[in-house]
Amino acid sequence: MKSIPLLSVIVPAYNEESVLEAFHQRLSSVLNSLPMQTEVLYVNDGSTDRTLDVIRSLRMNDHTIGIVDLSRNFGKEIAMAAGLDHAHGDAIVVIDADLQDPPELIPELIQHWQQGYDGVYAVRLSRQGESWLKKITAHFFYRLINRLSGTPIPEDTGDFRLLSRRAVDSLKGLHEQHRFTKGLFTWIGYPQKAVHYHRNPRLSGKTKWNYWRLWNFALEGITSFTTAPLKIGTYLGLLAALSAFLYAGITIYKTLAFGEPVRGYPSLMVVILFLGGIQLIGIGIIGEYLGRVFDETKVRPLYFLKDYIPPEHDNKST
Ligand code: UDP
Ligand code: MG
Repeated sequence: MKSIPLLSVIVPAYNEESVLEAFHQRLSSVLNSLPMQTEVLYVNDGSTDRTLDVIRSLRMNDHTIGIVDLSRNFGKEIAMAAGLDHAHGDAIVVIDADLQDPPELIPELIQHWQQGYDGVYAVRLSRQGESWLKKITAHFFYRLINRLSGTPIPEDTGDFRLLSRRAVDSLKGLHEQHRFTKGLFTWIGYPQKAVHYHRNPRLSGKTKWNYWRLWNFALEGITSFTTAPLKIGTYLGLLAALSAFLYAGITIYKTLAFGEPVRGYPSLMVVILFLGGIQLIGIGIIGEYLGRVFDETKVRPLYFLKDYIPPEHDNKST
């Protein structure tokens, strides 16, 4: 007797009261057409609006919904981790609540999973409803991180993807506080496959990502996957020392050959400011890493739960 495989769908939600009903409707109609058992885990990431109430009322009519209610807002990365910890599925899909990731793509993700892929990630062919500045910065961010880091991070890929059971179990073994999930998904390895789609604008509500958050997200990505910036300090230092050496030679020659009346205040100022700047940048880069080391050494739990309502599945079997 072989039981029907279970699909878990994880939906991190932070202040999404306005879209959740429409989202769940579209998701359910996709899930109902699948020849699998399904469960949907909504992770309420400390929403301050009626998100939790909406999820609860959805659950009244649909007991395959599970609710993971975090004690406060921990951010999407941690919300996803909480979802993965509570998912029982043989395959797990992570999807945004704002309908930017079309649930209709899920059957295609599953097809590839059935062919043996452990990670099937959705690549955006287009991003509608996003500013050109966001698209350009995102584009350069992926270029940069892929040059710096040994873990290739697929470009134009969000968190919308399917993971196999063993991929999720591997991810669960990673306890880092600073989670750049997109990178972790690749870092664990296993066969991965890309699927393409057009990204829609948000159905309603607004994005939680302003440029300051995106900048910090980019820093997180770089510092989690490469120590290359630390080396920049070394090379800048070498370069500065080398130019100082050359300049000293020139000065000595000039003094011997022509004598040297006291001059050179501007050049002195320039050199001092230049070196001071470089040193501060170097210290700043070290600080970025040191701060993260500090956070990780505390080994705090990733999140706390206020409430957990597990989904129910009827144990269908064939
Ligand atoms: N999200 C979350 N916690 C947060 C911020 C966002 O769980 O602190 C969820 C949000 O509800 C949505 C998904 O993460 O389901 C993507 O967020 P958003 O649409 O704001 O990001 P964008 O699509 O603009 O990158
Ligand atoms: Mg969005």
